[in-house]
Amino acid sequence: EYGPAPEDSSIVRNWLEARSGGFGHFIDGAFTPPGTTFAVDNPATGETISQATQSSAADVDAAVAAARRAQPGWAALGGHGRARYLYAIARHVQQHARFLAVLESIDNGKPIRETRDIDVPLVARHFYHHAGWAEIAADELPGTEPWGVCGQIVPWNFPLLMLSWKIAPALAAGNTVVLKPAEYTPLSALAFAGICAEVGLPAGVVNIVTGDGETGAAIVAHEGIDKLAFTGSTEVGRIIRRETAGTGKGLTLELGGKSPFVVFADADLDAAVEGVVDAIWFNQGQVCCAGARILVAEAVVERFTALLRARMATLRVGDPLDKSTDMGAIVHPVQLARIRDLVAQGKAEGAVIEQGDAPQGCFYPPTLVTNVDPASVLSTEEIFGPVVTLTAFRTPADAVELANNTRYGLAASIWSENVNLCLDIAAQVKAGVVWINCTNVFDAGAGFGGYRESGFGREGGREGMTAYLRAPRRAAPQGVGDL
Ligand code: NAD
Repeated sequence: EYGPAPEDSSIVRNWLEARSGGFGHFIDGAFTPPGTTFAVDNPATGETISQATQSSAADVDAAVAAARRAQPGWAALGGHGRARYLYAIARHVQQHARFLAVLESIDNGKPIRETRDIDVPLVARHFYHHAGWAEIAADELPGTEPWGVCGQIVPWNFPLLMLSWKIAPALAAGNTVVLKPAEYTPLSALAFAGICAEVGLPAGVVNIVTGDGETGAAIVAHEGIDKLAFTGSTEVGRIIRRETAGTGKGLTLELGGKSPFVVFADADLDAAVEGVVDAIWFNQGQVCCAGARILVAEAVVERFTALLRARMATLRVGDPLDKSTDMGAIVHPVQLARIRDLVAQGKAEGAVIEQGDAPQGCFYPPTLVTNVDPASVLSTEEIFGPVVTLTAFRTPADAVELANNTRYGLAASIWSENVNLCLDIAAQVKAGVVWINCTNVFDAGAGFGGYRESGFGREGGREGMTAYLRAPRRAAPQGVGDL
């Protein structure tokens, strides 16, 4: 079978050992020496595996200055010239796929099956797709021009994949970037910086600075940044929107969610149960578009719940590097404590909690919540963990009402053998992405993004490209959120 075996972790260990002093930033085509560092931990073992540098305001200045110097030359290369680099990055991501998959699993705690089969292949796909866009953008999106320098801030749940969603379109459009990975998971972004150097990407086109929210805030406030793209919590998204109001900076926000997963009576229930596994137990539920609220037709609720319980009992939670693991570690003890608190609150409110098994440590079991009020904390708060609520509905109209009973609107999935019903319901659900008889399906060619407090703007596809271009002859087709 192709893919990393547990012993492949030695390639990552050797790489980290060779950098035992920790990492600096990647600025102007080279790594800076490590400065004041913070620990990077493997959540599955609790072990500190490396050190990354907390950036100072001077580091952000240096990164923005490098990006500014590089931008005119990068844009002047033209679409074909830029595409060559994007293709090269995609190929190198594929060449280093095993290494990147293991590194991501060790840094984040996600199962190797996911990093190997989903995260890393999608990263390569994103660069290939946007290499194509670089080649055709001048014809397809005439009159547009790059924003200039983009500040990009990404979360820890899909560290490398979110980086690719940001960097690939920005570069294709002729922008240069300063990107900050999340403080829990900086390593794959630093490995990616190495790939940029390896393919000979011109210095300053991609700059990676590491650090916490203070570094993020310094990027947001920097006058040399023309456009910001942020993926993370709704809370921080709100701050960024306020900070950038009136500055003239472009902005797209990809924020939280509490997505519904609607199962009609005529659905293929076995398939829908597998859908739940993908919807909420994929990546330990740390997925912005996780199907966190199952809404199931009253007529089949008992049968569906019994099937789901049986399936939940088979899930294996444990070592992320074991290929048979279904759910790995929670990214950080702080997140684990947050999940535990929310579930305890739900229990106190009268919800019934059923759980599978999980080892000691930074792990949380797959969790099914029933008898839950739609207004309660477990129904309304984004838990960002492997916790799913289950509520019965009577009619399709009830299903739509419950589905839309959220301040978010990132995604939804609908399960029924009646395609007309699915399409009818899809049109009524307020979500940026609606999946029918599937869930958590991503493609670089399809725009992904939210409604309401899930943010605005799209990543992927034509809309994702336009977000990285100024369009002097017509307005970019971005939604206006109501944050
Ligand atoms: P977070 O908002 O705490 O952090 C995200 C990033 O923002 C990190 O890099 C962090 O260092 C930085 N940051 C923190 N404070 C900042 C500030 N004041 N200014 C600028 N940057 C700041 O979110 P998180 O806990 O890392 O990620 C989880 C959240 O991300 C969830 O709410 C999830 O739904 C969301 N998410 C959304 C999408 C999407 O596409 N809509 C995708 C993945 C994750």
